[in-house]
Amino acid sequence: PKKTFMCLNELIDEIIKEFQELFSRVGIEIHNRIKEKFFLNLDPALMRQALINLIVNAYQAMPEGGTITIDACNDGDFIKLTIKDTGHGIDSNIIDKIFDPFFSTKDRGTGLGLSITGSIISAHSGRIEVKSEINEGTEFAIYLPVK
Ligand code: ADP
Ligand code: MG
Repeated sequence: PKKTFMCLNELIDEIIKEFQELFSRVGIEIHNRIKEKFFLNLDPALMRQALINLIVNAYQAMPEGGTITIDACNDGDFIKLTIKDTGHGIDSNIIDKIFDPFFSTKDRGTGLGLSITGSIISAHSGRIEVKSEINEGTEFAIYLPVK
C-alpha cells in the first residue's frame, strides 16, 4: 500500500456523498456519527475500496430500505471504525465463512468484497470483526493502528 498521513473523516464524507443520491432513491439513510477528527496513515484508494465494499453489502442487505450508521472512536492503540446496517443479518452458520474468497449467498455475488476488504485492512496492520443478528442487522468494526 501507498500510505499517506490523511484525514479519515474526509475520505468517509467523500464516499457518503457518492452514495447519497442512490440511497435517497431506495430509502436508505446513511448517518455519519463520527464526532472527532481522526488522522491516520492510509492508502486512500485501497481504504476507499475497503469501505465501499462494506457499504455496498449493507445496501444489498436492505432491499426494503434501512439505515447505515458510521461511527469511530479511539480504542487503545487503535481507531475503531464501525459500519452498521439494519439489514437482514448474517446466519451464525455462515458467519465464519464470509471473509473467504468466493463465498457468497447472493445469486450474482462474486464473494470477493469482504476478502478484499479483509486483505486491505491487514495491509494496514489492522483487523476487522463482524457482529450480526438475524432480522436486526450487521455491524463491521475495523481497527486501524494509530501510531
Ligand atoms: P458478495 O457481496 O459478492 O456476496 P462479499 O465478500 O462482499 O461477497 O460478502 C460475502 C457474504 O457475506 C455475502 O454474500 C453475504 O451473505 C454476507 N454479508 C456481507 N455483508 C453483509 C451485510 N452487511 N449484511 C448481511 N450479509 C452480509
Ligand atoms: Mg459484497
